[in-house]
Amino acid sequence: MKTDTSTRLYRQAVRLMPGGVNSPVRAFRGVGGDPLFVARGEGPYLVDADGNRYVDYVLSWGPLILGHAHPAVVEAIQRQAAHGTSFGAPTEAEIALAQAVIELVASVEMVRFVNSGTEATMSALRLARAYTTRHKIIKFEGCYHGHADMLLVQAGSGVATLSQPDSPRVPPGATQDTQSAPYNDLAAVRARFEQFPGEIAAVIVEPVAGNMGVVPPVDGFLQGLRDLTTAHGALLIFDEVMTGFRVALGGAQTAYGVLPDLTALGKVIGGGLPVGAYGGRREIMEQVAPAGPVYQAGTLSGNPLAMAAGLATLRTLREPGVFERIVAVAAALRDAIQRSAGAAGIPVQTVSAGTMFGLFFNDTPVTNYAEVKTSDARRYAAFFHALLARAVYLAPSAFEAGFAALAHTGPALDQTLDAIDSVFRYDLN
Ligand SMILES: *Cc1c(COP(=O)(O)O)cnc(C)c1O
Repeated sequence: MKTDTSTRLYRQAVRLMPGGVNSPVRAFRGVGGDPLFVARGEGPYLVDADGNRYVDYVLSWGPLILGHAHPAVVEAIQRQAAHGTSFGAPTEAEIALAQAVIELVASVEMVRFVNSGTEATMSALRLARAYTTRHKIIKFEGCYHGHADMLLVQAGSGVATLSQPDSPRVPPGATQDTQSAPYNDLAAVRARFEQFPGEIAAVIVEPVAGNMGVVPPVDGFLQGLRDLTTAHGALLIFDEVMTGFRVALGGAQTAYGVLPDLTALGKVIGGGLPVGAYGGRREIMEQVAPAGPVYQAGTLSGNPLAMAAGLATLRTLREPGVFERIVAVAAALRDAIQRSAGAAGIPVQTVSAGTMFGLFFNDTPVTNYAEVKTSDARRYAAFFHALLARAVYLAPSAFEAGFAALAHTGPALDQTLDAIDSVFRYDLN
Protein backbone atom coordinates (compact mmCIF):
# COMPACT_ATOMS: atom_id res chain seq x y z
CA MET A 1 0.00 0.00 0.00
CA LYS A 2 1.44 3.38 -1.00
CA THR A 3 1.52 5.85 1.89
CA ASP A 4 3.99 8.47 0.61
CA THR A 5 1.64 11.38 1.20
CA SER A 6 1.08 10.38 4.85
CA THR A 7 4.84 10.09 5.30
CA ARG A 8 5.42 13.53 3.77
CA LEU A 9 2.70 15.11 5.93
CA TYR A 10 4.09 13.42 9.02
CA ARG A 11 7.56 14.91 8.35
CA GLN A 12 5.93 18.35 8.11
CA ALA A 13 3.85 17.78 11.24
CA VAL A 14 6.72 16.71 13.51
CA ARG A 15 8.39 20.08 12.93
CA LEU A 16 5.25 21.94 13.97
CA MET A 17 3.64 19.83 16.72
CA PRO A 18 5.23 17.64 19.41
CA GLY A 19 5.59 14.18 17.90
CA GLY A 20 3.59 15.42 14.92
CA VAL A 21 0.29 14.77 16.68
CA ASN A 22 -2.15 16.34 19.11
CA SER A 23 -2.63 13.23 21.26
CA PRO A 24 0.24 10.78 21.85
CA VAL A 25 -1.10 7.36 20.88
CA ARG A 26 -1.93 8.58 17.35
CA ALA A 27 1.80 8.58 16.56
CA PHE A 28 2.10 4.76 16.14
CA ARG A 29 4.91 4.59 18.73
CA GLY A 30 3.35 1.42 20.16
CA VAL A 31 3.49 -0.51 16.89
CA GLY A 32 6.24 1.23 14.91
CA GLY A 33 6.00 2.97 11.55
CA ASP A 34 4.56 6.34 10.60
CA PRO A 35 0.97 7.34 11.36
CA LEU A 36 -1.55 7.55 8.55
CA PHE A 37 -2.94 10.99 7.81
CA VAL A 38 -6.68 10.86 7.30
CA ALA A 39 -8.39 12.59 4.42
CA ARG A 40 -11.97 11.56 5.26
CA GLY A 41 -14.28 8.98 6.77
CA GLU A 42 -17.12 7.18 5.00
CA GLY A 43 -19.36 4.91 7.07
CA PRO A 44 -17.12 2.01 8.17
CA TYR A 45 -14.10 3.31 6.24
CA LEU A 46 -11.22 5.64 6.87
CA VAL A 47 -9.61 7.08 3.73
CA ASP A 48 -5.98 8.16 4.12
CA ALA A 49 -4.16 11.00 2.39
CA ASP A 50 -2.99 8.62 -0.37
CA GLY A 51 -6.53 7.46 -1.05
CA ASN A 52 -6.26 4.03 0.64
CA ARG A 53 -9.48 2.83 2.28
CA TYR A 54 -9.42 0.94 5.58
CA VAL A 55 -12.20 -0.59 7.64
CA ASP A 56 -11.91 1.49 10.82
CA TYR A 57 -12.19 -0.08 14.30
CA VAL A 58 -10.70 2.92 16.10
CA LEU A 59 -13.60 5.27 15.30
CA SER A 60 -11.86 8.30 16.75
CA TRP A 61 -11.14 6.13 19.84
CA GLY A 62 -14.75 5.24 20.44
CA PRO A 63 -17.11 8.16 19.77
CA LEU A 64 -18.28 7.24 16.26
CA ILE A 65 -20.61 4.40 17.22
CA LEU A 66 -22.72 4.91 14.08
CA GLY A 67 -19.66 5.11 11.81
CA HIS A 68 -18.17 8.08 9.94
CA ALA A 69 -20.37 10.88 8.65
CA HIS A 70 -23.64 9.15 9.52
CA PRO A 71 -26.39 11.03 7.63
CA ALA A 72 -28.41 11.81 10.79
CA VAL A 73 -25.36 13.31 12.50
CA VAL A 74 -24.20 15.27 9.44
CA GLU A 75 -27.68 16.68 8.93
CA ALA A 76 -28.00 17.71 12.60
CA ILE A 77 -24.63 19.49 12.54
CA GLN A 78 -25.37 21.25 9.24
CA ARG A 79 -28.76 22.43 10.40
CA GLN A 80 -27.33 23.85 13.63
CA ALA A 81 -24.26 25.38 11.94
CA ALA A 82 -26.53 27.44 9.71
CA HIS A 83 -28.12 28.90 12.84
CA GLY A 84 -24.93 29.72 14.70
CA THR A 85 -22.20 27.64 16.32
CA SER A 86 -21.95 28.98 19.86
CA PHE A 87 -23.83 31.43 22.05
CA GLY A 88 -22.55 31.16 25.61
CA ALA A 89 -26.20 31.18 26.64
CA PRO A 90 -28.57 28.29 27.27
CA THR A 91 -30.26 26.50 24.36
CA GLU A 92 -33.10 24.00 24.09
CA ALA A 93 -30.73 21.38 22.66
CA GLU A 94 -29.00 21.12 26.05
CA ILE A 95 -32.33 20.17 27.63
CA ALA A 96 -32.95 17.53 24.98
CA LEU A 97 -29.53 15.90 25.42
CA ALA A 98 -29.72 16.14 29.22
CA GLN A 99 -33.10 14.41 29.10
CA ALA A 100 -31.78 11.64 26.86
CA VAL A 101 -28.80 11.04 29.16
CA ILE A 102 -30.97 10.97 32.27
CA GLU A 103 -33.40 8.53 30.64
CA LEU A 104 -30.63 6.20 29.53
CA VAL A 105 -28.11 6.26 32.39
CA ALA A 106 -29.88 4.86 35.44
CA SER A 107 -27.98 6.66 38.22
CA VAL A 108 -27.97 10.09 36.59
CA GLU A 109 -30.67 12.48 37.84
CA MET A 110 -28.89 15.68 36.82
CA VAL A 111 -26.08 16.37 34.42
CA ARG A 112 -23.49 19.06 33.56
CA PHE A 113 -21.98 19.15 30.07
CA VAL A 114 -18.28 19.85 29.57
CA ASN A 115 -15.94 19.55 26.57
CA SER A 116 -13.93 16.39 27.18
CA GLY A 117 -13.70 13.25 29.28
CA THR A 118 -10.75 14.76 31.10
CA GLU A 119 -12.90 17.66 32.26
CA ALA A 120 -15.70 15.30 33.25
CA THR A 121 -13.60 13.17 35.64
CA MET A 122 -11.72 16.19 37.04
CA SER A 123 -14.97 17.94 37.80
CA ALA A 124 -16.65 14.84 39.24
CA LEU A 125 -13.72 14.40 41.63
CA ARG A 126 -13.79 18.06 42.68
CA LEU A 127 -17.48 17.64 43.41
CA ALA A 128 -16.97 14.37 45.32
CA ARG A 129 -14.34 16.01 47.52
CA ALA A 130 -16.55 18.98 48.28
CA TYR A 131 -19.58 16.79 48.96
CA THR A 132 -17.78 14.43 51.33
CA THR A 133 -15.46 17.12 52.78
CA ARG A 134 -12.57 14.66 52.29
CA HIS A 135 -9.39 14.76 50.15
CA LYS A 136 -8.22 11.29 49.22
CA ILE A 137 -9.27 9.31 46.18
CA ILE A 138 -8.66 5.74 45.06
CA LYS A 139 -8.05 4.83 41.43
CA PHE A 140 -6.94 1.61 39.75
CA GLU A 141 -3.73 0.73 37.92
CA GLY A 142 -4.29 0.64 34.20
CA CYS A 143 -7.47 2.74 34.32
CA TYR A 144 -7.24 6.05 32.48
CA HIS A 145 -9.32 9.02 33.53
CA GLY A 146 -7.83 11.81 31.44
CA HIS A 147 -4.71 13.87 32.01
CA ALA A 148 -5.44 15.88 35.17
CA ASP A 149 -2.36 16.09 37.44
CA MET A 150 -4.03 14.25 40.33
CA LEU A 151 -4.81 11.27 38.10
CA LEU A 152 -1.34 10.84 36.59
CA VAL A 153 -0.27 8.30 39.16
CA GLN A 154 1.68 5.22 38.36
CA ALA A 155 1.78 2.77 41.21
CA GLY A 156 4.77 0.48 41.30
CA SER A 157 3.71 -3.12 40.90
CA GLY A 158 5.32 -4.08 44.21
CA VAL A 159 4.32 -1.16 46.41
CA ALA A 160 0.95 -0.18 45.04
CA THR A 161 0.46 2.62 47.51
CA LEU A 162 3.33 4.82 46.28
CA SER A 163 1.54 7.93 45.06
CA GLN A 164 4.20 8.77 42.53
CA PRO A 165 3.51 11.04 39.56
CA ASP A 166 3.48 9.47 36.12
CA SER A 167 4.74 12.51 34.24
CA PRO A 168 7.85 14.54 35.14
CA ARG A 169 7.37 17.42 37.58
CA VAL A 170 3.74 16.81 38.30
CA PRO A 171 4.07 18.23 41.83
CA PRO A 172 3.95 15.50 44.48
CA GLY A 173 1.29 17.63 46.17
CA ALA A 174 -1.01 17.01 43.23
CA THR A 175 -0.90 13.25 43.63
CA GLN A 176 -0.34 12.80 47.36
CA ASP A 177 -4.04 12.24 47.91
CA THR A 178 -4.35 9.71 45.10
CA GLN A 179 -4.21 6.10 46.19
CA SER A 180 -3.86 3.40 43.60
CA ALA A 181 -4.98 -0.24 43.75
CA PRO A 182 -4.86 -3.18 41.34
CA TYR A 183 -7.98 -3.55 39.19
CA ASN A 184 -10.35 -6.29 40.34
CA ASP A 185 -8.69 -6.39 43.79
CA LEU A 186 -11.32 -5.64 46.44
CA ALA A 187 -9.00 -6.60 49.29
CA ALA A 188 -6.59 -3.85 48.24
CA VAL A 189 -9.41 -1.31 48.23
CA ARG A 190 -10.56 -2.45 51.65
CA ALA A 191 -7.00 -2.07 52.91
CA ARG A 192 -6.84 1.55 51.66
CA PHE A 193 -10.08 2.36 53.46
CA GLU A 194 -8.68 0.83 56.65
CA GLN A 195 -5.38 2.67 56.25
CA PHE A 196 -7.13 6.05 55.83
CA PRO A 197 -10.34 5.91 57.89
CA GLY A 198 -12.67 8.84 57.19
CA GLU A 199 -10.30 10.31 54.58
CA ILE A 200 -11.38 8.73 51.28
CA ALA A 201 -13.71 10.98 49.28
CA ALA A 202 -14.23 8.73 46.29
CA VAL A 203 -13.32 5.61 44.39
CA ILE A 204 -13.09 6.22 40.65
CA VAL A 205 -13.14 3.25 38.30
CA GLU A 206 -13.70 2.28 34.69
CA PRO A 207 -16.52 -0.23 35.30
CA VAL A 208 -15.19 -2.18 32.33
CA ALA A 209 -11.57 -1.15 31.87
CA GLY A 210 -10.91 -0.08 28.30
CA ASN A 211 -7.61 1.76 28.52
CA MET A 212 -5.36 -1.25 29.19
CA GLY A 213 -7.06 -3.25 26.49
CA VAL A 214 -10.51 -4.48 27.49
CA VAL A 215 -10.57 -5.95 31.01
CA PRO A 216 -14.03 -6.65 32.45
CA PRO A 217 -14.72 -6.57 36.18
CA VAL A 218 -14.66 -9.98 37.87
CA ASP A 219 -17.84 -11.19 39.55
CA GLY A 220 -18.64 -9.07 42.57
CA PHE A 221 -15.96 -6.40 41.99
CA LEU A 222 -18.30 -3.51 41.16
CA GLN A 223 -20.84 -4.52 43.82
CA GLY A 224 -17.97 -4.80 46.30
CA LEU A 225 -16.88 -1.25 45.47
CA ARG A 226 -20.47 -0.11 45.92
CA ASP A 227 -20.67 -1.75 49.34
CA LEU A 228 -17.26 -0.50 50.52
CA THR A 229 -17.84 3.11 49.46
CA THR A 230 -21.30 3.14 51.05
CA ALA A 231 -19.99 1.62 54.28
CA HIS A 232 -17.21 4.21 54.52
CA GLY A 233 -19.21 7.29 53.46
CA ALA A 234 -17.26 7.71 50.21
CA LEU A 235 -18.70 8.26 46.75
CA LEU A 236 -18.43 5.74 43.93
CA ILE A 237 -17.61 7.32 40.58
CA PHE A 238 -17.95 5.30 37.38
CA ASP A 239 -15.83 6.71 34.61
CA GLU A 240 -18.07 5.70 31.72
CA VAL A 241 -16.40 8.01 29.21
CA MET A 242 -15.68 4.93 27.08
CA THR A 243 -18.29 2.44 28.34
CA GLY A 244 -21.25 4.85 28.34
CA PHE A 245 -23.66 4.05 25.49
CA ARG A 246 -21.22 1.26 24.49
CA VAL A 247 -21.17 -1.60 27.03
CA ALA A 248 -24.94 -1.17 27.07
CA LEU A 249 -27.12 1.74 26.02
CA GLY A 250 -27.28 2.69 29.70
CA GLY A 251 -23.57 2.06 30.19
CA ALA A 252 -21.81 -0.55 32.29
CA GLN A 253 -23.93 0.45 35.30
CA THR A 254 -26.99 -0.90 33.49
CA ALA A 255 -25.19 -4.01 32.25
CA TYR A 256 -23.88 -4.90 35.72
CA GLY A 257 -26.75 -3.51 37.81
CA VAL A 258 -24.53 -1.45 40.08
CA LEU A 259 -25.32 2.24 40.43
CA PRO A 260 -22.57 4.76 41.20
CA ASP A 261 -23.10 8.12 42.88
CA LEU A 262 -21.49 10.03 40.02
CA THR A 263 -20.85 9.12 36.39
CA ALA A 264 -18.38 10.66 33.94
CA LEU A 265 -19.35 10.51 30.28
CA GLY A 266 -17.68 11.48 27.00
CA LYS A 267 -16.88 10.03 23.58
CA VAL A 268 -20.21 8.64 22.21
CA ILE A 269 -22.20 11.38 23.99
CA GLY A 270 -20.78 13.92 21.53
CA GLY A 271 -21.26 11.82 18.39
CA GLY A 272 -17.76 12.79 17.20
CA LEU A 273 -17.75 16.36 18.46
CA PRO A 274 -15.95 17.39 21.66
CA VAL A 275 -18.29 16.71 24.60
CA GLY A 276 -18.04 15.29 28.07
CA ALA A 277 -20.51 15.24 30.93
CA TYR A 278 -20.76 14.35 34.56
CA GLY A 279 -23.92 13.58 36.42
CA GLY A 280 -25.45 11.73 39.29
CA ARG A 281 -27.73 12.05 42.26
CA ARG A 282 -29.60 15.35 42.40
CA GLU A 283 -28.52 16.29 45.92
CA ILE A 284 -24.85 15.91 44.89
CA MET A 285 -25.17 17.67 41.53
CA GLU A 286 -26.94 20.61 43.18
CA GLN A 287 -23.61 21.41 44.83
CA VAL A 288 -22.29 22.52 41.40
CA ALA A 289 -22.21 26.27 40.68
CA PRO A 290 -24.38 28.27 40.35
CA ALA A 291 -26.80 25.98 42.23
CA GLY A 292 -24.09 25.32 44.82
CA PRO A 293 -20.54 26.34 45.78
CA VAL A 294 -18.44 23.90 43.66
CA TYR A 295 -17.01 25.97 40.82
CA GLN A 296 -16.88 24.57 37.30
CA ALA A 297 -17.40 26.43 34.03
CA GLY A 298 -16.73 26.34 30.27
CA THR A 299 -16.90 28.89 27.45
CA LEU A 300 -17.99 26.27 24.92
CA SER A 301 -19.74 23.85 27.31
CA GLY A 302 -23.10 22.65 26.01
CA ASN A 303 -22.00 23.79 22.55
CA PRO A 304 -24.96 23.65 20.15
CA LEU A 305 -23.11 21.77 17.39
CA ALA A 306 -21.92 19.17 19.89
CA MET A 307 -25.36 18.85 21.47
CA ALA A 308 -26.89 18.33 18.01
CA ALA A 309 -24.36 15.63 17.08
CA GLY A 310 -24.77 13.87 20.43
CA LEU A 311 -28.54 13.96 20.27
CA ALA A 312 -28.65 12.62 16.70
CA THR A 313 -26.33 9.81 17.76
CA LEU A 314 -28.33 8.81 20.84
CA ARG A 315 -31.62 9.02 18.93
CA THR A 316 -30.34 6.67 16.25
CA LEU A 317 -28.87 4.31 18.86
CA ARG A 318 -32.26 4.09 20.58
CA GLU A 319 -34.09 2.95 17.44
CA PRO A 320 -35.25 -0.66 17.83
CA GLY A 321 -32.56 -3.25 17.09
CA VAL A 322 -29.77 -0.75 16.37
CA PHE A 323 -27.71 -1.26 19.50
CA GLU A 324 -28.07 -5.06 19.32
CA ARG A 325 -26.70 -4.99 15.77
CA ILE A 326 -23.54 -3.21 16.91
CA VAL A 327 -23.11 -5.64 19.81
CA ALA A 328 -23.33 -8.50 17.30
CA VAL A 329 -20.49 -6.97 15.26
CA ALA A 330 -18.20 -6.83 18.31
CA ALA A 331 -19.07 -10.44 19.17
CA ALA A 332 -18.40 -11.57 15.59
CA LEU A 333 -14.97 -9.94 15.62
CA ARG A 334 -14.13 -11.48 19.00
CA ASP A 335 -15.20 -14.93 17.81
CA ALA A 336 -13.28 -14.61 14.53
CA ILE A 337 -10.07 -13.67 16.32
CA GLN A 338 -10.47 -16.49 18.85
CA ARG A 339 -11.28 -19.08 16.17
CA SER A 340 -8.50 -18.07 13.75
CA ALA A 341 -5.91 -17.85 16.51
CA GLY A 342 -6.99 -21.26 17.79
CA ALA A 343 -6.64 -22.80 14.34
CA ALA A 344 -3.15 -21.28 14.06
CA GLY A 345 -2.18 -22.45 17.56
CA ILE A 346 -1.52 -18.90 18.74
CA PRO A 347 -2.50 -18.19 22.35
CA VAL A 348 -4.92 -15.28 22.55
CA GLN A 349 -7.43 -14.00 25.09
CA THR A 350 -10.42 -12.29 23.53
CA VAL A 351 -13.25 -10.36 25.10
CA SER A 352 -16.19 -8.28 24.01
CA ALA A 353 -18.22 -5.99 26.24
CA GLY A 354 -21.26 -4.71 24.41
CA THR A 355 -19.90 -2.83 21.39
CA MET A 356 -16.26 -2.92 22.57
CA PHE A 357 -13.88 -5.78 21.85
CA GLY A 358 -10.31 -6.60 22.78
CA LEU A 359 -7.57 -9.16 22.52
CA PHE A 360 -4.40 -10.00 24.38
CA PHE A 361 -1.67 -12.25 23.06
CA ASN A 362 -1.46 -14.05 26.36
CA ASP A 363 -1.66 -17.67 27.56
CA THR A 364 -3.99 -16.95 30.45
CA PRO A 365 -6.97 -14.67 31.09
CA VAL A 366 -6.13 -11.07 31.93
CA THR A 367 -7.78 -9.40 34.94
CA ASN A 368 -5.46 -6.53 35.91
CA TYR A 369 -2.67 -4.28 34.69
CA ALA A 370 0.17 -6.52 35.88
CA GLU A 371 -1.27 -9.35 33.78
CA VAL A 372 -1.89 -7.02 30.84
CA LYS A 373 1.82 -6.21 30.88
CA THR A 374 2.73 -9.88 30.38
CA SER A 375 0.99 -9.88 26.97
CA ASP A 376 3.06 -10.07 23.79
CA ALA A 377 3.02 -6.49 22.48
CA ARG A 378 5.45 -7.35 19.67
CA ARG A 379 3.07 -9.93 18.32
CA TYR A 380 0.28 -7.35 18.53
CA ALA A 381 2.43 -4.95 16.46
CA ALA A 382 2.83 -7.67 13.82
CA PHE A 383 -0.93 -8.35 13.94
CA PHE A 384 -1.67 -4.63 13.58
CA HIS A 385 0.61 -4.16 10.56
CA ALA A 386 -0.59 -7.35 8.86
CA LEU A 387 -4.20 -6.21 9.20
CA LEU A 388 -3.31 -2.71 8.04
CA ALA A 389 -1.75 -4.22 4.91
CA ARG A 390 -5.13 -5.89 4.34
CA ALA A 391 -6.89 -2.54 4.78
CA VAL A 392 -8.19 -3.06 8.32
CA TYR A 393 -7.33 -0.32 10.83
CA LEU A 394 -7.07 -1.40 14.47
CA ALA A 395 -5.75 0.72 17.34
CA PRO A 396 -2.01 1.34 16.91
CA SER A 397 -1.30 0.01 20.41
CA ALA A 398 -1.63 -3.38 22.07
CA PHE A 399 -3.40 -1.89 25.06
CA GLU A 400 -6.39 -0.14 23.54
CA ALA A 401 -9.95 -1.28 22.95
CA GLY A 402 -11.49 -2.05 19.57
CA PHE A 403 -14.80 -0.41 18.69
CA ALA A 404 -17.71 -1.64 16.60
CA ALA A 405 -20.07 0.66 14.72
CA LEU A 406 -23.49 0.43 13.12
CA ALA A 407 -21.76 0.93 9.77
CA HIS A 408 -19.74 -2.30 10.16
CA THR A 409 -21.99 -4.47 8.04
CA GLY A 410 -21.90 -6.25 4.69
CA PRO A 411 -18.67 -6.04 2.69
CA ALA A 412 -16.74 -4.07 5.35
CA LEU A 413 -17.37 -6.73 7.99
CA ASP A 414 -16.76 -9.60 5.55
CA GLN A 415 -13.47 -8.04 4.47
CA THR A 416 -12.44 -7.81 8.12
CA LEU A 417 -13.33 -11.41 8.95
CA ASP A 418 -11.40 -12.62 5.87
CA ALA A 419 -8.43 -10.45 6.80
CA ILE A 420 -8.37 -11.81 10.36
CA ASP A 421 -8.43 -15.37 9.05
CA SER A 422 -5.61 -14.71 6.54
CA VAL A 423 -3.44 -12.85 9.02
CA PHE A 424 -3.49 -15.71 11.53
CA ARG A 425 -3.04 -18.24 8.74
CA TYR A 426 -0.13 -16.62 6.88
CA ASP A 427 1.35 -13.63 8.71
CA LEU A 428 1.82 -14.59 12.36
CA ASN A 429 3.86 -17.43 13.76
C1 LIG B 1 -11.01 8.77 26.72
C2 LIG B 1 -11.19 8.63 28.18
C3 LIG B 1 -11.03 9.72 29.05
C4 LIG B 1 -10.54 11.06 28.60
O1 LIG B 1 -11.42 11.68 27.71
P1 LIG B 1 -10.86 12.86 26.77
O2 LIG B 1 -12.07 13.30 26.03
O3 LIG B 1 -9.79 12.25 25.93
O4 LIG B 1 -10.33 13.90 27.67
C5 LIG B 1 -11.34 9.54 30.40
N1 LIG B 1 -11.75 8.34 30.85
C6 LIG B 1 -11.89 7.28 30.06
C7 LIG B 1 -12.37 5.99 30.62
C8 LIG B 1 -11.60 7.38 28.70
O5 LIG B 1 -11.72 6.29 27.91
